Amino acid sequence: MIFSQGVITREFVIATRNLKKVEEIRRILSKGNDDLRFLTLKDYPDFPEVEEDRETFKDNAAKKALAIAQYTGKIAIADDSGLEVYALGGSPGVHSARYAGDNASDRSNNDKLLQEMESIDDRGARFVCVVALAKQDGSVMTFEGFVEGSIARKLRGNMGFGYDPLFIPKGWSKSFGEALPEEKDALSHRAKALKKLKDYIDNNDYL
Ligand code: IMP
Repeated sequence: MIFSQGVITREFVIATRNLKKVEEIRRILSKGNDDLRFLTLKDYPDFPEVEEDRETFKDNAAKKALAIAQYTGKIAIADDSGLEVYALGGSPGVHSARYAGDNASDRSNNDKLLQEMESIDDRGARFVCVVALAKQDGSVMTFEGFVEGSIARKLRGNMGFGYDPLFIPKGWSKSFGEALPEEKDALSHRAKALKKLKDYIDNNDYL
């Protein structure tokens, strides 16, 4: 908490350099809260990359948030997310970003997924997001969000990022790749996890 010119500000460091994520996090958490100030990893250019080497989204998010809270001395927010396909035993899961290899692109990841599922009729899948809030004292809390859906048989649309063109949310006839950002925001895994974090922040003024 910072007291400056008669105004109390609550300050958080968002543990990412990805501007799209920063904007989404800022947009959701700031709603109705004008006392929040957000820094990002761009404000800490010397902070080394944290390896996402844990077996669960929760552990990866907590690891990143704790590392940044300890480095900056401020409250940190980190997220980890990915796609779980039931017929593939939960893959690509925590390996979503590098499913097709170390230098994978969204396109190569999507191509690999289509190939792996070529002869699979059970197309059920979900996106998962875990957001972690950590303090310098080592305490950490996590908030989860999910969205259920299915994997399309071919790429559909070019909106969003990652696996969006292959993911059709339950009850929809189009993919996230064919959806407007606000349509995706209304039910995305990341938005759901962030709304839980927002409830926590809104009810804990001392943060
Ligand atoms: P990370 O959370 O930045 O590590 O992202 C993990 C990977 O999961 C991304 O590179 C995407 O491939 C995938 N992913 C996570 N969230 C989404 C989403 O909202 N749409 C599409 N792909 C996603």
